[in-house]
Amino acid sequence: MNNSTQASRLDLFAPLSGVVVAIESVPDPVFAQKMVGDGVSIDPISNLLLAPVAGKVTQLHSSKHAITITTPAGIEVLIHIGLDTVMLRGEGFTIKATEGSEVKVGQPLIEFNADLVARKALSLLTQIVITTGDKVVKYIPTTKKTVVAGQDVVLSLDLAGATVVGQVAAADTAIQSGAIIVPNPTGLHARPAAVLANTAKTFKSDLKLLRADDEANAKSVVSIMGLEVQHGDSIFVKATGPDAAQAVKALAELIASGSGEECGGVATAVAAKHVPKPQARPVLKSNDPNMLMGVSASPGLAVGYIFQVKQEVIDVAETGDTPELEKHRLEKALKDAFEQLETLKGEIADPVKAEIFVAHQELLSDPDLLDLVSVGINQGKSAGFAWRAAFTSYADKLAKLKNEVLAGRANDIRDVGRRVLCLIAGIKEAALEVPNDAILIAEDLTPSDTASLDRNKVLGFCTVGGGATSHVAILARSLNIPAICGIEEIALQLANGTPVILEGSKGCLRLNPSVEEINNIRERQVKLAKRQAEELETAFEPATTTDGVCVEVVANIGGLEEAQQSVKLGGEGVGLLRSEFLYLERTNAPTEAEQDKIYSDIAKSLGKDRTFVVRTLDVGGDKPLPYLPMSAEENPFLGVRGVRLCLAEPELLHTQIRAILRSAEHAKLAIMFPMITSLEEVREVKRIVAEEKAALGVTSPVQVGIMVEVPATAVMAEIFASEVDFFSIGTNDLTQYTLAMDRGHPKLAKEADAMHPGVLRLIANTVKGAHAHGKWVGVCGGIASDPAAVPLLIGMGVDELSVSVPAIPAVKALVRKLSKADCQQLAAEVLQMGTVAEVRARLAQQLTD
Ligand code: PEP
Ligand code: MG
Repeated sequence: MNNSTQASRLDLFAPLSGVVVAIESVPDPVFAQKMVGDGVSIDPISNLLLAPVAGKVTQLHSSKHAITITTPAGIEVLIHIGLDTVMLRGEGFTIKATEGSEVKVGQPLIEFNADLVARKALSLLTQIVITTGDKVVKYIPTTKKTVVAGQDVVLSLDLAGATVVGQVAAADTAIQSGAIIVPNPTGLHARPAAVLANTAKTFKSDLKLLRADDEANAKSVVSIMGLEVQHGDSIFVKATGPDAAQAVKALAELIASGSGEECGGVATAVAAKHVPKPQARPVLKSNDPNMLMGVSASPGLAVGYIFQVKQEVIDVAETGDTPELEKHRLEKALKDAFEQLETLKGEIADPVKAEIFVAHQELLSDPDLLDLVSVGINQGKSAGFAWRAAFTSYADKLAKLKNEVLAGRANDIRDVGRRVLCLIAGIKEAALEVPNDAILIAEDLTPSDTASLDRNKVLGFCTVGGGATSHVAILARSLNIPAICGIEEIALQLANGTPVILEGSKGCLRLNPSVEEINNIRERQVKLAKRQAEELETAFEPATTTDGVCVEVVANIGGLEEAQQSVKLGGEGVGLLRSEFLYLERTNAPTEAEQDKIYSDIAKSLGKDRTFVVRTLDVGGDKPLPYLPMSAEENPFLGVRGVRLCLAEPELLHTQIRAILRSAEHAKLAIMFPMITSLEEVREVKRIVAEEKAALGVTSPVQVGIMVEVPATAVMAEIFASEVDFFSIGTNDLTQYTLAMDRGHPKLAKEADAMHPGVLRLIANTVKGAHAHGKWVGVCGGIASDPAAVPLLIGMGVDELSVSVPAIPAVKALVRKLSKADCQQLAAEVLQMGTVAEVRARLAQQLTD
């Protein structure tokens, strides 16, 4: 062996002929962000990959599209042909060198069918990347625009220090990714942590996640959560072991894509800056001794009696039998706990909620947790004692974290911990024996407790711990039971049987209400329940007035779940899909495919006979998108928002229109544009719709309409009506723009009432204009759901009411009680009034008439 030192410069020859491309420009963030390592890319014109350096073939990917050569100095050079070529599973690639063989510069490694790969993969761009970045101090890409395979140097490396020739890379060389920005809106909480840990466990290498000076075992959910990774944080993956390069690549990709969560894929460093960190929950306290405050965890109203829930302490002996016996006890308990959770999962209807117990199952095999228990057992402790010490210390660690979501997961660890502990101790926890009409109070309820609550007896619950994002809160919402988290600690001292009123939506617990108050609420609840049951029974009948005029009652929705719910409640379609939900709280724009899926899913849930009105993106300076830099505006409500923004960002609009159009075959599709102010805007958006419709070959009819929410448009309704298929009046904005009152203003919002005669006259004018051209008019602002306003709107001639989902049965029932002729008379009368007060008083009279 030659012990002389090697020169510190290493030249890499072009493995393919072609155009040199900077690695940062590769349209795949895994390479562009150097997650696998730094290097260079070639857009090839040849199809025989040659070795760029002499060395040993240390890895040949089973899909034959990637190969790693390790030089005698331990520099690992990964050559990755094309993008997304792993999907081809070897199709079109022929291997010319074997794993473990030594190769010389220019020796053929892989031949590929360029036509086939170019057709089937994302790109042919071939990356030459150094995965042992710690050994390189400088990367010097060639200055040539094109290179010839085997002849031109494409990249030179200045190596860190001298290395002994002949020394092959040690098997445990550490490989570290570049910085990865975490895109998950709530960071790496339990579910993404579980996905990451699961993937990490499929590799042999030791895997760590690094953030600044902290590190976590990437195979341990608990350890990952303990790192408290938040949205926008930069983290690194470090691997040591035989499959380090693959592991780093796989994990880096997974993290960048949201670790199994829908969060808009790869975050950009720029975007991350805009996203606020989660704030610690403020401690709520009421000044009224008969009122305890907390955070609303699940809405609803309940009148009942306090029942305190306290967990019994489980006793376990400290000293164990032999470590083998104790380990066996632990293993058995872990296995049984897994089975129990499997059963519990099956009992929860909603698969998303059932996932909570999947995360619990994941904790049962957490390596860090199990290592800690093992240490305890080896020191002579009993399985129960060692297990309790381990899970308690983990839970305490998590509970101290600043991130509310992660801190909330401490409760999950305690829940699983107690489940296993009971099994080790042979204790069968009795189901909670609760009295009727119980409002439970607990330090914390575990997800298991919550899932097994007897809904016939428990009317609601309050916990001192947890928050609105805790799993207990999620379960409470899915069980449709009012709940408060983070309630004042004094609640734990309330005597069992204390009468209380729990207001879930307001997050408050009223103590000692008078008998009269309780009776009033009970009466109200009974009446309401009866009326709702009646409305629900007739929800599928059309909303036809007593004199035979049919009014379409449709839903305002913000996603698929609400669409499904609206159909169940008798909704006759969707009058307003607020498509913003697809764009907000994410770090990059939703792709066409992502949007297509959701619009099509909603359209399918409605079916071919229901209308589906999709409103195009309605955001602006007041609701900025992190990935769409906008200059600050002094008056964002009067700035570049709604259709103005979309026309300023045509790519964004074209993508959305294409995605919307793709859903046309599944429902009666209509596209609606917000904040329309001029005819030019109408003509331009119609042109775009027509262009994309033709390009996609969509033949189903698609209506194009506008929201009337700018006074100018309402005034010119008759002119606009000749150029569109329909109007939908956005009374929320129409009111704020007509009255010059910010609809969210803390003082003025109350006065920004759509019942202002000025607004009503604009609504009437809009209807008149539309009908003059035979076009239909809907109202999708808040007043469409207001029982006082419904007769007036019908009287003014509105054809469609787009209401909040829960209001559908009630609005339909109300319409059936009205006569159009009476409503017209009412409208004629009200339109002559001069003040909001007069209008409201007249409408209230109508309600009680
Ligand atoms: C409106 O302005 O009335 C409306 C329905 O739109 P949004 O509330 O989404 O602005
Ligand atoms: Mg609006």
